[in-house]
Amino acid sequence: MSATEVQTPVSPVLPVSPSPLGKTVTGCEVKTALASARSAGIELSLDGEDLALTAPTPPPPAVLELIARHKAEIVLWLRPGADGWSLEDWHVYFDKCGFGACVVEWLNRNPVCSPSDHCLWCGGQDELNNLLLPFGAHPDGRAWLHGGCWPDWSKERKAEAIAALGLMGLVGAASVLDQAVPVDDRGSRVPERIRQRDRAGERGCA
Ligand SMILES: [Zn+2]
Repeated sequence: MSATEVQTPVSPVLPVSPSPLGKTVTGCEVKTALASARSAGIELSLDGEDLALTAPTPPPPAVLELIARHKAEIVLWLRPGADGWSLEDWHVYFDKCGFGACVVEWLNRNPVCSPSDHCLWCGGQDELNNLLLPFGAHPDGRAWLHGGCWPDWSKERKAEAIAALGLMGLVGAASVLDQAVPVDDRGSRVPERIRQRDRAGERGCA
């Protein structure tokens, strides 16, 4: 749809009441509804808790019915989470880059910062033969750990990432836990649509 086309609001706002993705509605059904809407030329966006639709021409009633049936799930699908990405962003990234990349991205988007005067894992202090070291690449801060404590902490972080991704319907091989995960491995693999939005709203450590 070009910017010069007249956009006809179609049911400008569909009111919804938020509800979690239920057992009977899978990401697959939401993806199908969204694909049908977009192939019919409908643009979907969030308007607070509601779903806003615009289209250059009146869409087929069947597509509107499909959207209406899944509107609560579509709102949840499109709404950015605390780490700035929506369920759709995560699924797009998963389809493009795989589960391992999602684990890396989750770790990058959910950084841990800690005080530099004790180990985040064991609570111990900086010692001559057991130095505290900074881990992580986030500009706002690092996690401070003994070098020997880092592997256990890192394994727990990866398990946390895998659990969080699992809640979003993204599942991969448990062997990711045993793989070395680079601290920052984003670069060009993040889809451009998501990168542009990230640049508009960079976030730091919680
Ligand atoms: Zn330690």
